[in-house]
Amino acid sequence: MMRYQELSYWLSSVDGSLTPRPALPGDADADVVIVGAGYTGLWTAYYLAAADPTLRITVLEKEIAGYGASGRNGGWCSALFPTSLPALARRHGPDRALAMQRAMQETVREVGRVVAAEGIDCDWQPGGTVVLARTEVQLGRARAAVAEAREYGLDAEDLVLLDAAEATARCAADGVRGGTYTPHCAAVHPARLVRGLARAVERRGVRIFERTPVTAVRAGAAVTPAGVVRAPVVVRATEGFTPTLPGQRRAVAPVYSLMVATESLPAETWARIGLAERETFSDYRHVIIYGQRTADGRLAFGGRGAPYHFGSRVSPGYDREPQVFAALRRVLGELFPVLGPDVPVSHTWGGPLGVARDWSASVGLDRTTGLAWAGGYVGDGVGTSNLAGRTLADLIRGVPSDLTALPWVNHRSPKWEPEPLRWLAVNAGLKVMFSADDAELRSGRPSRRAAAFSRLLGH
Ligand SMILES: Cc1cc2nc3c(=O)[nH]c(=O)nc-3n(C[C@H](O)[C@H](O)[C@H](O)COP(=O)(O)OP(=O)(O)OC[C@H]3O[C@@H](n4cnc5c(N)ncnc54)[C@H](O)[C@@H]3O)c2cc1C
Repeated sequence: MMRYQELSYWLSSVDGSLTPRPALPGDADADVVIVGAGYTGLWTAYYLAAADPTLRITVLEKEIAGYGASGRNGGWCSALFPTSLPALARRHGPDRALAMQRAMQETVREVGRVVAAEGIDCDWQPGGTVVLARTEVQLGRARAAVAEAREYGLDAEDLVLLDAAEATARCAADGVRGGTYTPHCAAVHPARLVRGLARAVERRGVRIFERTPVTAVRAGAAVTPAGVVRAPVVVRATEGFTPTLPGQRRAVAPVYSLMVATESLPAETWARIGLAERETFSDYRHVIIYGQRTADGRLAFGGRGAPYHFGSRVSPGYDREPQVFAALRRVLGELFPVLGPDVPVSHTWGGPLGVARDWSASVGLDRTTGLAWAGGYVGDGVGTSNLAGRTLADLIRGVPSDLTALPWVNHRSPKWEPEPLRWLAVNAGLKVMFSADDAELRSGRPSRRAAAFSRLLGH
């Protein structure tokens, strides 16, 4: 059997056992069947059961709850939404774009509320996010981010520009020239959140079957080798794994994000690094990096950059790319020279996240078939999946609400191109972002290719 604790530092440090729950014993009926026990599936189950305790809700999970990205991520429960405010405003108008952003901010508070109400012990710390600028070009992007936020109605309570001293006071990385700070983010132990959520939904009468792979999703049924679960509503909550389902190969591209965790660092080191409020941190380079100070004093640090695999393949082997781990370790050492030349990394891991062709996350229910879905969060699913779960609960119960009026509801992303175009496009994009960072460091000027590529994606 798979050693689930080896999938991430987080899964190796949860309370309680990772022994799978029983598998589906045979054919069954339900009111709602949910495929996938990550945050999306479990939040959907949670809010449905809370709103209507009589509903018979069944969750089918191929491995164990939290096996996917939900048990492996960077633990930023943020208000970040993968589609930018300007892109949302172009498609839906500035008011609806702002409504989406406000709903995301409220989502961070909502997750904190449920964590407290359900007694989920997941190191929840709403310390906000500091994004550092370590070059003049990055400082320009920090200023532009604040100007853009103001233009769309966000104020100093939402995002502020930091000078070098203010940014360094939060996160004393090397060569900090400034940055931005938003309070709308909490650091969380992601696997404890998803495992605690699974227990919370079970307490509300939801049935979770693990080690139960769904081989087909169709109107009125989820099919597994052990039997068929018939239900008028079937929710697909498989995010980066979606292309492994029949008929879904081009729905999202699975892109891998990889992480490292250091050993627990001594108090003197933390006194030099800061992050005293456990702020999550990043910087304004193009290739995304993200980090958090864990409750047990480690740096958990990740980034994109692993290659996309031909045919949208998802495989445990892709979770590990030695050269990406080495690069992450090098970047950590550059950011925090106090870690020394040999950054003490104790864990390395990774996982797939889902990227839609138009970079838009979406949530929806097709009333004629009863098929519902949510995903395409790119790397922002910790918060967004909670909003998805609440929205799906309203859609499935047929209750119109502020949530069901948000612009991402029932949005249909186009399919990705067939191969080899998909492979060429995704990997070319990753390459542009890497070379843009190098070119900016060399020239001291913003990369035009990266800006053009972002425009192409509709960012
Ligand atoms: C390394 C990494 C770092 C990240 N960092 C952050 C971050 O800091 N903040 C943030 O907001 N987001 C982050 N993300 C993204 C975030 O983790 C995801 O968006 C989020 O967890 C998605 O939740 P989900 O439930 O939709 O998908 P998942 O957690 O991937 O769950 C899908 C589940 O479906 C199951 N499944 C798949 N196929 C089947 C099938 N055929 N039958 C039954 N079950 C199936 C899988 O086993 C899995 O458990 C990160 C992702 C990764 C990989």
